[in-house]
Amino acid sequence: MNAYIITVGDELVSGFSLDTNSVYLAARLASAGITVGRKTSVRDRVSEIAAEIDAALQASDLVFLTGGLGPTHDDCTKKAVCESFGVGLVENEDILARVRKRYESRGMEMPEVNRSLALVPKGAELLPNPLGSAVGLRLRRGESSLYVLPGVPGEMKAIFEGSIETSLLGLDGRANIKTRVLRTTGLTESRITEMLEPVSADLGVSLAYLPRPTGVVLRLTAMGDSEAAAGMALGQAIAGIRTVLGDRLYSEDGEDLHYVVGKMLIEAKKTIAVAESCTGGLIGHLLTEVPGISSRFMEGITAYSNQAKVRDLGVNPEMLESFGAVSEQVAKAMAVGVRRRAATDIGLATTGIAGPTGGTEEKPVGLVYTGIAHEGGSAVTRNVFAGTRSAIKVRAATHALDLVRLHLAR
Ligand code: AMP
Ligand code: MG
Repeated sequence: MNAYIITVGDELVSGFSLDTNSVYLAARLASAGITVGRKTSVRDRVSEIAAEIDAALQASDLVFLTGGLGPTHDDCTKKAVCESFGVGLVENEDILARVRKRYESRGMEMPEVNRSLALVPKGAELLPNPLGSAVGLRLRRGESSLYVLPGVPGEMKAIFEGSIETSLLGLDGRANIKTRVLRTTGLTESRITEMLEPVSADLGVSLAYLPRPTGVVLRLTAMGDSEAAAGMALGQAIAGIRTVLGDRLYSEDGEDLHYVVGKMLIEAKKTIAVAESCTGGLIGHLLTEVPGISSRFMEGITAYSNQAKVRDLGVNPEMLESFGAVSEQVAKAMAVGVRRRAATDIGLATTGIAGPTGGTEEKPVGLVYTGIAHEGGSAVTRNVFAGTRSAIKVRAATHALDLVRLHLAR
């Protein structure tokens, strides 16, 4: 069964804002066993929306449309639905009363333009919106259904999950699809392809490579005659990939590295302090995204200048003078220094050249030294990361967190 998604809005077509609604819908539909065969974005023009609705209903049994349901003059989806279905708009008193009440409960009078929220195409089934004033609509043409949802992502999701998703599970012709997201770090897309080459034919699942600055994400999709068969195929494929990628695979359920590391710190009851130069506080930010980390993450110092490295981390000024701030020696001294200062189990440090200027032949842009200090001693790694200034920061923070993961996994 193929579904069709239409997103409506000038801002989506002009490049002003990103269409995330279709991403959400396609993923939710896939987990319900429904494949999206096509998605399009159209401008806020009655005739263009109506033509798209006609084409979609011609091509597919299930059409989802989002956007253009608001009360302002640029919102014209309901008019387009009327044009496509050859019906008129009728005022719905319940909706009007509810919109009025929303305003009155806040001590405001309803602006007259909001009357249009209560206008619905004749014959449409209404799908309640628990979060806003624009209700969802369902219309049928022959065997096909058109679902019309608001553009505001939270409201669109609330209606989809509250009034649509369950009914889709009762439809015939759904596939048994299971998907899983695996996360890797420290390997390029081409390296992973090479490594998986010998086994990929036997995996029995389709594999998508999605490279990100934090590492390559692998998206596995398994299909089967039954849900159990799809689940079995997926499990076997993950086991095969795990054997090949070893410790480069850090998540088998899509979890980000900082959550994985944060949970490991919590579980192992190990405390950490971070001294950051080129990552500028990014590691501290990522660790503090993890709920419950306050008992483990003690301190993060952004020691950007040489003075701060000396004053706050006890780095020897002569060492800075002779080796430079971006050096193996300084990375180690920062890690040891922050661990001593915060009296933690682990000290982690970054120092590097994020660019785009400031590189030399000996110390190119992207060069990052990462230091880790713990009860067993200390270690420093040297990497040259590629990409923009932001990407280098992200790659350096990811690598640093990965060193903590590998240390804790030992
Ligand atoms: P509308 O229902 O067209 O008035 O849209 C209301 C708001 O929802 C817009 O201002 C956008 O910020 C957002 N929105 C509309 N369509 C999408 C979409 N496809 N993806 C993400 N956000 C959207
Ligand atoms: Mg709009």
